[in-house]
Amino acid sequence: RFNAWVVDKAATGQSLTFGTLDDSDLMDGDVTVRVTHSTVNYKDGLAMTGRSPVVRRFPMIPGIDFSGVVETSTHPDYAPGDAVILTGWGVGETHLGGYAERARVRGDWLVPLPEGLSGAEAMAIGTAGYTAMLSLMALEHHGARPGDGPALVTGASGGVGSVAVALLARAGWHVIAATGRGEEADYLSGLGAAECLDRAELSQPGKPLAKERWAAAVDVVGSHTLANVLAATKAGGAVAACGLAQGMDLPSSVAPFILRGVSLLGINSVTTPLPKRRAAWDRLARDLDRTALAAMTTTVPLAEVDRLAEAILAGGVRGRTVVTVP
Ligand code: NAP
Repeated sequence: RFNAWVVDKAATGQSLTFGTLDDSDLMDGDVTVRVTHSTVNYKDGLAMTGRSPVVRRFPMIPGIDFSGVVETSTHPDYAPGDAVILTGWGVGETHLGGYAERARVRGDWLVPLPEGLSGAEAMAIGTAGYTAMLSLMALEHHGARPGDGPALVTGASGGVGSVAVALLARAGWHVIAATGRGEEADYLSGLGAAECLDRAELSQPGKPLAKERWAAAVDVVGSHTLANVLAATKAGGAVAACGLAQGMDLPSSVAPFILRGVSLLGINSVTTPLPKRRAAWDRLARDLDRTALAAMTTTVPLAEVDRLAEAILAGGVRGRTVVTVP
């Protein structure tokens, strides 16, 4: 038997309880993992609170990612004792997730823990940091280079944003960090931001085109913010869109695309094919500054993760949170 958080449907909505489950409660999969770490992403906040219907199977163990050690496996690529990472694939949404001492998943969903990265560091990065890397890779694939001009990161004090700031700075970009938390300016410059921008400048309805300010951007906010980010992107520049913290809408126009040749690059971390996943994790292990990673990371024990559910949705969690699993 093992401990786990369980989301279930109740007469009053959704319930969240910490309890004990049995191995027979786990879903189908060819690899069973002893979870050592998980983390808190925005989507985990949605799953724990029920604010958005991300959970589509009840009962559900939330937790969209985890790292751990293989206990049993019939998958050809994995053997007991192997250290692994899981992100996405509907884990914590449609398949029982990482807020548990044990998980059973398809081996095809796993990534081997890269050399030089600990299980705790992997979850300090987590889905959020891995999404930041996918965003950087998409911008580079587009051809964006630090010599083109500054790179903007929205939601910079959050999880995706903090890792994006550190990765872009490390890659040589002049990083502009847009945040609603002016008091985090020192934190953001410590991660590598060259300047901070008050997010209020971007969050209201704006013009179809504005003064060109950045050559590239990673946007986790969506809505009016993304529209304004596009409107102020330099000719030929690109914006990686990966989040919806302000809203799912995009009240924009085609002006940035047809008058400035700006590109909007969509990022979906959930179903990224394995070769790209491995490339992203290998590069994170190689390029992400460990001092910056430590500076953005706090830790919470599994039994207390529920207290962060509301906080992350309210934009009140700075950087990344590792969940330690006993
Ligand atoms: P997070 O830690 O809560 O970061 C979000 C940040 O956005 C907040 O810290 C805040 O930053 C800013 N923000 C929050 N509410 C806002 C608002 N109303 N207007 C403007 N800015 C606001 O969450 P996360 O885990 O980094 O995730 C960020 C977003 O990316 C979420 O929407 C998540 O669903 C999405 N995501 C997508 C993928 C994918 O595969 N596409 C993967 C991971 C995450 P400041 O306080 O600095 O302003």
